[in-house]
Amino acid sequence: MNGAPTLPDAIRAADALDPLRHLRDQFVLPDGMIYLDGNSLGALPRATAARVAAAIIDEWGRGLITSWNAHDWIGAPQRIGAKIAGLIGAGPREVVVADSTSVNLFKLLAAACRHQRGRNKILSEPGNFPTDLYVAQGVERLLPECRLETVPVERLAAAIDEDTAVVLLTHVHYKTGRRLDMAAITAAAHARGALVLWDLSHSVGAIEIDLNGCDADLAVGCGYKYLNGGPGAPAFLFVAERLQGVLRSPLSGWMGHARPFDFVDGYEAAPGIDRFLCGTPPILAMAALESGVDLIAGVDRAAITAKAAALSDLFLREVEPLCAAHGFTLVTPRRFAERGSHVSLAHDHAYGICQALIARGVIGDFRAPDMVRFGFTPLYTSFADVWRAVAILGAVMASRAWDDPRYQVRERVT
Ligand SMILES: *Cc1c(COP(=O)(O)O)cnc(C)c1O
Repeated sequence: MNGAPTLPDAIRAADALDPLRHLRDQFVLPDGMIYLDGNSLGALPRATAARVAAAIIDEWGRGLITSWNAHDWIGAPQRIGAKIAGLIGAGPREVVVADSTSVNLFKLLAAACRHQRGRNKILSEPGNFPTDLYVAQGVERLLPECRLETVPVERLAAAIDEDTAVVLLTHVHYKTGRRLDMAAITAAAHARGALVLWDLSHSVGAIEIDLNGCDADLAVGCGYKYLNGGPGAPAFLFVAERLQGVLRSPLSGWMGHARPFDFVDGYEAAPGIDRFLCGTPPILAMAALESGVDLIAGVDRAAITAKAAALSDLFLREVEPLCAAHGFTLVTPRRFAERGSHVSLAHDHAYGICQALIARGVIGDFRAPDMVRFGFTPLYTSFADVWRAVAILGAVMASRAWDDPRYQVRERVT
């Protein structure tokens, strides 16, 4: 970059000492781009194209239908689920890969509400990820006795009562980056007989999660963010072993049947986690997801979390003077224990700022109405990326580069 300030030695040293630095080469990252949006769409692992090509050319092209057995296509939901289980503190028979996060939310939320009959409240927070609230509103319409109530998280524990069926929360908030105390909230819910459904989309692959250590009930999460499974990758769901026998999926498709290849007329839910499958797994998308999951599954979880902390701490430290000078408000909690691996800044001109950054090769994203969000992926973001991104943000603010009509044009996807 012409005229770019030179990287301080301390930043260079931080990258040289990073125990995960070798992983960056495992990804395709375009030259000259600083990619800080892996929390929205993870980067492409180098191994993925060949893996998907093999699934197409060898498994599909040559193996055709025999590949369901020969290449264990049929076992992909459980096999990949077991690998994800290792990242989230779950048992290998407690996670399957299936459908989208939205559909998995629906399956588990509706199943939990039915199971908790007599309790009529779904409790969530205002400003939760839209699909979580929309799916809850759909469940509300489907089950007439159910109603959704949203309460700010500060008052949430007090709002869990005898009428609460399920508490629906996102572990790390997509916009603010705030991390909730999974163990404490789960314990508070259990004390009043409620279940908790956690959305792990913004935490899985970025920070340590210990579902069973927290006595968690239910969870869902996204495959295309920090798991690098590719655009629209299949999602996953977790059901604690103790609940698997009593919950029933409302989408009773044949892959959730106890014996799908008996082809009988009557539905009989499979024992265990398999009952939360619905239709045939999308094998090509599964191949891409498995490639991403295999990459992260071999990495020390504590090292991933430590790097998430270090990257975001560096960003916070460097960006602080810009907040004061240019009117940014830090939306994300400062303490790492209270946040995930992305940081959001609020600003009246957030949209233009984000566009000016993208034009300069720094890819973050805009979240309506007024936030610029920067995501740090421990597997491939470097300390140099973080430092340079803040330097470029400083230049954009100092020159008012954001105040350009080109940067005010809204596209369909922000
Ligand atoms: C990204 C994300 C989703 C995505 O849901 P899809 O069904 O894949 O579109 C859901 N919940 C949260 C909290 C997310 O961050």
